Amino acid sequence: MRFDIISIFPNIFDSYFNESIIKRAQKRKLIKINIHDLRDYTQDRHKTVDDKPYGGGFGMVLMVKPIQKAVQAIKKPRRKVGIPTQKASGKRKVILLSAKGRKFDQRMAKRFSKLDQLIIISGRYEGVDERVAKYIADQEISIGDYVLTGGEVPAMVMVDAVTRLIPGVITKGSLEQESFPQYTRPESIKINNKQRKVPRVLLSGNHKKIEQWQEKHVKIFK
Ligand code: SAM
Repeated sequence: MRFDIISIFPNIFDSYFNESIIKRAQKRKLIKINIHDLRDYTQDRHKTVDDKPYGGGFGMVLMVKPIQKAVQAIKKPRRKVGIPTQKASGKRKVILLSAKGRKFDQRMAKRFSKLDQLIIISGRYEGVDERVAKYIADQEISIGDYVLTGGEVPAMVMVDAVTRLIPGVITKGSLEQESFPQYTRPESIKINNKQRKVPRVLLSGNHKKIEQWQEKHVKIFK
């Protein structure tokens, strides 16, 4: 699977994508992540990506033109780079990250993990010209009901959630779409002057009881 992220701050991704599971998945060629600097798709000397909003208002808005050019260039089949030519128009989605988009969840991550390519557009400033949402992106996605300064963190969230669902990225046992309280050594530790212990049932060795306890406390993501 290939991720193409368009951003005006391409360096933000360096550290996160070069550690741990995401790094390993790239090394093993299970995923490919390309970061595209939106300024590379501008035509003027100053590499302008934004302009004032029509109708007035505060701040600047990312323009359609550089985004359109970036998406077109990424979609163009190139034999040498990334996915094979026949798949270039295949199972692909263009995502615009936006606070007003549809809420990202585990189900969406699962669906995306079956695609060949995700093109992710990160906004900045006061947002992105609405024509990107209407005519260039297939889907507008939000990672939660709050406003961030840019789409870079949401892009990393999406890449992370989708990558761990790609076969071979993590061991099957850890792939469970659920979360329950976990404990490890020591069995007892002083926190704020009180001894805090691991729930007794987890030390019992009684697998049936442990399972029941986990079922009681589990949160399942579908
Ligand atoms: N009204 C704007 C909007 O459309 O989201 C707020 C602009 S925000 C300061 C700048 C950029 O951050 C947005 O264009 C979007 O790409 C990203 N962003 C902010 N909050 C987000 C969220 N909850 N989910 C996804 N992206 C978000």
